[in-house]
Amino acid sequence: MAHGVPQTLEQVHSLAFRALIAQGFSAEQGHAIADTITAAERDRCESHGLFRLPFYIKAASNPDADKTAVPTLTVSDSSVVRVDGARGFCPLALSIGLDPLTEKANERGIAALAINNTYNIAALWPEVEALAERGLVAFAFTASNAFVAPAGGTQPLYGTNPMAFAWPRRDQPPMVFDQASSASARGEIQLHLRDGKPIPVGWAIDREGQPTTDPAAALDGAQLTFGGYKGAALALMVELLAGALIGDLFSYESTEHDTLGTGAPFGGEFLMALSPAHFQQGGSATHAFDRAELLFAKILEQDGTRLPSSRRFSARAETLSQGVIVNETLFNSINDYIG
Ligand code: NDP
Repeated sequence: MAHGVPQTLEQVHSLAFRALIAQGFSAEQGHAIADTITAAERDRCESHGLFRLPFYIKAASNPDADKTAVPTLTVSDSSVVRVDGARGFCPLALSIGLDPLTEKANERGIAALAINNTYNIAALWPEVEALAERGLVAFAFTASNAFVAPAGGTQPLYGTNPMAFAWPRRDQPPMVFDQASSASARGEIQLHLRDGKPIPVGWAIDREGQPTTDPAAALDGAQLTFGGYKGAALALMVELLAGALIGDLFSYESTEHDTLGTGAPFGGEFLMALSPAHFQQGGSATHAFDRAELLFAKILEQDGTRLPSSRRFSARAETLSQGVIVNETLFNSINDYIG
């Protein structure tokens, strides 16, 4: 079993940033990616932390990818803000789009952000959490690559298609959930493969369509949605929102685009933000927030419950002071990128 290397969060950021710069990413792209990787390490979301860095570097080897892309922002009279990621990576495009989305949502009550032309291999909770920290209710959706079989089928068609939702809370961090529409994120299967562990039944089928617990056979076959046809309907919805609606690729088209087989999804992300005050008589969000707290308290009255995101916030409270332990093999391979 690999040993761990203790790192502060500043060291995690510096390690990721230096590796990306050494591999030809611009400072702006590198900084935005290092921010999202560090946030994942901070919240102990290992599959989107430093573990993801080699995937960014591999994605950048796609002949179409631009490690120095400068995204462009379009703000029109409508409620839709657009960012063209210019074939770069999604974190920088997001950092440019969140402020104008916030402004539009505060002004109109409801607004959307369409991000196009980006490589997106990150978790979605950072963006919805950031919007909820600004008092907005937020949704985010992105398609990925053809990894998941449709209900009843055996061939990969949908992406793992995550959806994230955040609800603001007064005097405490927002309630956030962020989940793939597949039974597991692909990164979780990759982590099981790395660690030589079987995956749970129900996550995937092999190339012949048979259930498998072998992570290699799962990656070679097709992942399954959670909840059978109900998860498949959500995966379909994500394809339509982040693909058809905003004029970007479906997951199977992203796979076709990935001519080198890097596994990196290319396409769009769709975000929507709602200002609670606009939905209340009298124009104050207080009632909506109080009502939500009532429900949260009722949930937490029951033993065995917790709110989504409470695990991340507890992890954050620890790692901000204690740092994290990075898998030694991974740490060394990232240092190899720096040379
Ligand atoms: P998980 O199944 O680990 O968690 C899903 C959500 O459920 C989290 O918000 C989690 O909160 C919450 N949760 C877990 N257990 C409980 C519980 N007992 N009670 C209440 N809430 C709970 O996530 P996935 O494996 O589905 O997805 C992992 C990540 O992968 C996501 O961040 C997603 O965005 C990302 N992803 C990205 C893709 C891309 O192409 N960019 C593709 C697919 C996935 P908590 O965090 O507090 O545990």
